[in-house]
Amino acid sequence: MTGTRVLVLNSGSSSLKYQLLDMSDSALLAQGLVERIGERTSRLRHTPAGGETRAQDGPIADHDAALKAVAAELDRDGLGLDSPELVAIGHRVVHGGQRFTEPTVVDDSVLAEIERLIPVAPLHNPANLTGIRTARALRPDLPQVAVFDTAFHTTMPESAARYALDVATADAHRVRRYGFHGTSHAYVSRATAKLLGRAPKDVNVIVLHLGNGASASAVRGGRCVDTSMGLTPLEGLVMGTRSGDLDPAVIFHLMRVGEMSADEIDTLLNKRSGLIGLCGDNDMREILRRIDEGDEQARLAFDIYIHRLKKYIGAYYAVLGRVDAIAFTAGVGENAAPVREAALAGLDELGIRVDGGLNAVRADGARLISPPAARVAVAVVPTDEELEIATQTYALVGKGGPEST
Ligand code: AMP
Repeated sequence: MTGTRVLVLNSGSSSLKYQLLDMSDSALLAQGLVERIGERTSRLRHTPAGGETRAQDGPIADHDAALKAVAAELDRDGLGLDSPELVAIGHRVVHGGQRFTEPTVVDDSVLAEIERLIPVAPLHNPANLTGIRTARALRPDLPQVAVFDTAFHTTMPESAARYALDVATADAHRVRRYGFHGTSHAYVSRATAKLLGRAPKDVNVIVLHLGNGASASAVRGGRCVDTSMGLTPLEGLVMGTRSGDLDPAVIFHLMRVGEMSADEIDTLLNKRSGLIGLCGDNDMREILRRIDEGDEQARLAFDIYIHRLKKYIGAYYAVLGRVDAIAFTAGVGENAAPVREAALAGLDELGIRVDGGLNAVRADGARLISPPAARVAVAVVPTDEELEIATQTYALVGKGGPEST
C-alpha cells in the first residue's frame, strides 16, 4: 500500500460532511458539506485547500447521489476517489455500544452490530450506516473504518458506567452510560498533554467540550474515567437545546399531570430545553450580547449553564483526585471567554486560576490561559474530530497497519 490519503465522512440524516486529508503530514486537501439531502433545495459546498468554495444548488435525491456529487467535485481538483492515493474511508459512527472499544474495519458483522444499536441511537446510527453502505458501494475494494463516538469512554469503570438501576432490567435493555463526543475528548486530552510538554499517561485532564451539544470528561493518564453524557447525549451539562441532568420524576410528572406523551417529552428535553428553553436563544454569542444589554432572562440562562458546568468541574476534580489541566473546546469553549472565566471563578483554593488578559486574547491553536504559576493549567484547545478520525483510520489501515501489503 503506497497511498496516504484518507477521506472522512460524517453522515447525518439529511447531510454529508467530508474532509480529505493527506496523512503523510496531516494536511487538509479538501472539505465540504452536502445539506438538505432528499429535498428540492439541496446544496453542496466544496472547498479545496487554498482554493475558492464552490456551491452547487438543486435536488440531490439521496446519500448515494450526494457522495457521487462529492466525488465529482474532488475529481475536478485532481483528488478523485478512484486515486490509488486514497487508502481508506473513515466514518464517524455515534454509537458503538460496549463492543466497539477501538476503530474497526467494517465488514458485514460490524454493520449488523451498528444496526443492532439503533434502539439506543435512533437519530444517529441509521444515518451513519447509510454513509458507510454508500461509500462501500462506491469503493468496495477500499477499507471502510468506523470510528465510534462512544469508544473513548469504554474505559470508564463500572462504578461510573452503571446507573443505580435493577441490574437485570438495565442489562436486558442495555441501559448504561456510554458517553459521546469521545473522538473530541480523546483528541483534546492528548493535545492538552502535548501543550504541557508531557506524555498523556502522566497527565490528568478535565475536558469541557462545549458546543451546541456539550459534555465533560475526566481523563486519567489518557484514559476516560467518567463523562457527563449517558445512555444518550441528553444527560449532563446544560446544552444549546437539551436540558442535561434532571430528576427523572420530571418525566412521569409531565406524563401524568401535563398529559404529555413520551415523544412530546423527548422533543421537549432534546429540542426545546437547555439555553433555548430558558431564554429563547441557543447561540452563546447572542446570549452574551443580550446580557450586555441588561437582559435578565439571558442572564439567568447563562447562570444556570455556568452553575451546572461548575458542578461537573468540582465532581471530576474529586473523581480524579489530582488535576493537571482543564481544557475548553468546541464552539463555546474555544470562543466564549466569559464562559471560561465564570465557570472557573472562585476556584483558587483548588489551584485553578484564569489570567484575564490571556483569556481575552482571540487566537487560533492550543493555548494556556492560566497564570504560569498556577497549580492547574487551564487551556483552550481547538478540537479536530475529522483529523482524529483520519488519524485513527490511517493508524489502522495505512502504512504499517495490519492491512498494509
Ligand atoms: P459547535 O457545536 O462546536 O459547532 O458550537 C456551536 C456553538 O458555539 C454555537 O451555537 C454558539 O453558541 C457557540 N459559538 C460559536 N462561536 C462563538 C463565539 N465567537 N462566541 C461565543 N459562542 C460561540
